[in-house]
Amino acid sequence: MAVSRDPNIVTRPPRLMRAIRKAMAGTESVQERLDDFVDAITEAMQVAVASIYLRRPSRELELSATRGLKKSAVHKTLMQPGEGLVGHVAQTARPLNLADAPSHPLFSYRPETGEEKYYSFLGVPILRGGRTLGVLVVQSEEQRNFNEEEVEDLLTVAMVLAEIIVDDERIGGQKGALKGITLAPTKPETHEGKAFADGLAEGIAHLHVPPVTPDNLLAENIATEEIRLEEGVAVLRASVDAMVSGEAASLSRASKEIYETYRMFAYDRKWVQRLREAVHSGLTAEAAVERVRNEHRARLMKSPDPYMRARLHDLEDLANRLLRALSGEILGPGNKDLPDGAVIFARDLGPAELLDYEQDKLAGIVLEEGAHSSHTSIICRAIGIPLIGRAEGVLDRIEMGDQVLLDGEAGEIHVRPVQSRIDGFRLRVSIRGEKAKAYEAIRGRPAVTKDGRHIALQLNAGLLVDLPHLDRESADGIGLFRTEFQFMVAEFMPRLKEQTELYKKALDAAGHRPVTFRTLDLGGDKILPYMDPLPEENPAIGWRAIRIGLDRPALLRYQCRALIAAGAHKHLRVMFPMVTTVDEFIEARALFDMEVKRALSLGKTLPKKIEVGVMLETPSLAWSVRAICDHADFVSVGANDLMQFFFAADRDNIRVADRYDPLHPASLSILRFIAEGCKNAGVPVSLCGEMAGRPLEAICLVALGFEALSMPVTGIGPVKAAILELDAEKLNRLITPLITIDSRVASVRQHVREFCMEEGIPI
Ligand code: PEP
Ligand code: MG
Repeated sequence: MAVSRDPNIVTRPPRLMRAIRKAMAGTESVQERLDDFVDAITEAMQVAVASIYLRRPSRELELSATRGLKKSAVHKTLMQPGEGLVGHVAQTARPLNLADAPSHPLFSYRPETGEEKYYSFLGVPILRGGRTLGVLVVQSEEQRNFNEEEVEDLLTVAMVLAEIIVDDERIGGQKGALKGITLAPTKPETHEGKAFADGLAEGIAHLHVPPVTPDNLLAENIATEEIRLEEGVAVLRASVDAMVSGEAASLSRASKEIYETYRMFAYDRKWVQRLREAVHSGLTAEAAVERVRNEHRARLMKSPDPYMRARLHDLEDLANRLLRALSGEILGPGNKDLPDGAVIFARDLGPAELLDYEQDKLAGIVLEEGAHSSHTSIICRAIGIPLIGRAEGVLDRIEMGDQVLLDGEAGEIHVRPVQSRIDGFRLRVSIRGEKAKAYEAIRGRPAVTKDGRHIALQLNAGLLVDLPHLDRESADGIGLFRTEFQFMVAEFMPRLKEQTELYKKALDAAGHRPVTFRTLDLGGDKILPYMDPLPEENPAIGWRAIRIGLDRPALLRYQCRALIAAGAHKHLRVMFPMVTTVDEFIEARALFDMEVKRALSLGKTLPKKIEVGVMLETPSLAWSVRAICDHADFVSVGANDLMQFFFAADRDNIRVADRYDPLHPASLSILRFIAEGCKNAGVPVSLCGEMAGRPLEAICLVALGFEALSMPVTGIGPVKAAILELDAEKLNRLITPLITIDSRVASVRQHVREFCMEEGIPI
């Protein structure tokens, strides 16, 4: 398609667009605007009928405005999803263009509309955010197919229509005009998701990818928009090319392939052609991107082929990049004009994108996707802002600037809340603030129980942003340094030097306090962007962690090399994840020892002390606790994984993750078995799962005999406050009879809760 390059040549938008613009200029009610739209369409397209069907909450399609059909049918004629030609268009989210509609097998005759005399039919879906809001139809008496340009024009009108209705409803409150059809969210709503990072936040919704608004939907000058589009596409392609040819060139073949696929999309002729056509029909470049994206979403989401659905993510990503390029930003996300207290809403958000936002303006994050162990969740926990993920469909229900309450305790998002909810929420925020002050007051005190047990409270860490917490929280070191985080947030595989530098910084930040580095725990849900993901039926029990390390020892040895170099003159503690048998540990330790020998033979400075321990996170290793103690210098219980395997409940599957209480007698018995086994062997034992950071669980662990707990930063204050009031032996006496083999209780939680009330232990 030839593109006019001179913006001085004003290409006037097509007649239909001009008519639509006129209809938009009015300030009437929604219903009157719909009526204006159908009038404008019939006149500009010279058709006998134009009708708008909108989807009701019950999913039926209601004839909401018409010119040409009987007016008496408006708000009376209803079509079920899939019923008739209109229902078919809604269901397939594709245009339907027929010369002889009444003879089509799906034609459903509705006498009240008087449509039997119209032969040609063109229906297009009204799409917004991947949802089909309704159907726009034109009909005429003669038997003919509508041409491509007409189809294109009607698609454009449908897009404008969706935005207008939503916008009007938001600002105008034209109550009742559409008789119960609510397209734009205006009322208070609560959405549920999964709390991936704790915290309470009150803020203003900010969409990571700003939507097009009715103000910039229609092109003033098509030639200008065409040039903007071409320039935007060029910027997009250049950035994708840079990804392919840049550092990625030195990466593995697999990672190159991923970038190549990405480039293939950026250069996809059909995609760009669709964008050009949309601009040519009278849309701005931004609106064109949005329209083509909507079409892809609506189609791909319906595809039964998982590969096709996965492609949606790539296309979404490209569309976002293109929108950013059009707004003049080449790389960073839309962090311009970020309001104070911004709550970012996105489908998904990469760690680099998150860190691009001005942190002091961020109040929280809401994602439709995301995972507890994703790098974005990890960063949010580290910087202390709430993140709610897996909030399905929330993007369709939120607009820029909406007031939001983010409850990172319950995993709830309150949108446009009523005053009473705001008041209750603010009270909770202030109670939290009071608690935070109380934790601050005990910050310098060691965590010693009332009966004199000294408990080491350590941090779980993995990134540079975590390190300042060591001093801020007066933590007793880092009990779990998740080395894979550095790999997960990087765009390319970190080199030896980068690995060594990070480990050194962690050791320096800790000073005299211990840091326990865990070797790479990859696989399962922890996928690297630059590695070929191997599809597995059960990734959690698949080829992951030390299993990869032992089968492909080069990466593990390389990492051990970095750890040994970073630990020069220092105390180095290293442990291996997901060990299942004692032999695996022996093999892994031998690899580490080979690196020690290598460093020695090269005359490198060694750490002044080395301890090699094991993460105990599989039931099989729990039952081998005495045997593993013959070989490991210390044991760290990875309770997150141990519990998921013990209860056979995938920790990342929201349907089952919270089904079992770790305070079940069976799990407490195995934890006691491990603690006692280690103690009897004289091997130090700690626990580093999330449960260590929850006061009620933490005091149970202390009662069972654990003397070191490693946890997320937010746990240290509350856990210490509880420990300071705990008589560990007294709690032990309460728990012991409840967890014997004869126990019939489902959980000791309630008993411990009552104990805390009596003892004045804050939980
Ligand atoms: C665990 O499994 O308990 C653990 C601390 O490791 P991760 O959560 O990183 O798997
Ligand atoms: Mg684990």
